[in-house]
Amino acid sequence: MEKKELLYEGKAKKVFATEDENYVIVSYKDDATAFDGLKKGTILGKGVVNNRMSNYLMQLLEKHGIPTHFVEEIDYRDTLVKKVQIVPLEVIIRNISAGSFAKHYGVEEGIVFDEPTIEFSYKNDDLHDPLLNSYHALALKLATKEEINRIKEMAFEVNRVLKEYFLSLGVKLVDFKLEFGRLSDGTIVLADEISPDTCRFWDAKTNEKLDKDRFRRDLGGVEDAYREMLHRVFGE
Ligand code: UDP
Repeated sequence: MEKKELLYEGKAKKVFATEDENYVIVSYKDDATAFDGLKKGTILGKGVVNNRMSNYLMQLLEKHGIPTHFVEEIDYRDTLVKKVQIVPLEVIIRNISAGSFAKHYGVEEGIVFDEPTIEFSYKNDDLHDPLLNSYHALALKLATKEEINRIKEMAFEVNRVLKEYFLSLGVKLVDFKLEFGRLSDGTIVLADEISPDTCRFWDAKTNEKLDKDRFRRDLGGVEDAYREMLHRVFGE
């Protein structure tokens, strides 16, 4: 399928219509933002890494029975996906303390949790993605009770699969953000991306950061970190 008109341009991706209204083409850019868009930059090759890694992981999750929006990789930057209505929730799962969790609760990074945590933010740029719980999400009619339960169940299952997979590559899956969408028949599927932009990855031996925190915190070696994650997944 071919790209038709540009439907939407976000911080890291463009979305194009196709000749079939049930499908769109996502095109990954090298543009990077952090801190609610205040920090901007370019990470050379990021779009390729995120596209390829995300597609690989979506297919792995499909094999484990988790429905996703993935259809077909078109090339290194472009992917055909099912058109969904995005549920306006960012779903964050954490296995190890880091980032805003460490900051909010005044603890160091690196505490390994006995059980993963889940939290939601309301996807709303004007409000700066405020944190909310499932009762708030229901009150705001962002999703139904059934949808929220399904999203929670799927998010923890994604964590089980990905945590084990990344450990086999010598990578700790510290935390990550997921987004879900509704197909036209109402089915909830995993959407958006799973990449070093949306996950924290630490080397299992050295705890070296292999994700967007290198950009957020000006740690240097940003491109190398993304390349290293591609190497771990594809061995190239
Ligand atoms: N995350 C994301 N998009 C966001 C916010 C967070 O992909 O808008 C990811 C982030 O990369 C990390 C996890 O969600 O893997 C948890 O992020 P956290 O709440 O610690 O926020 P941060 O410290 O990144 O501001």
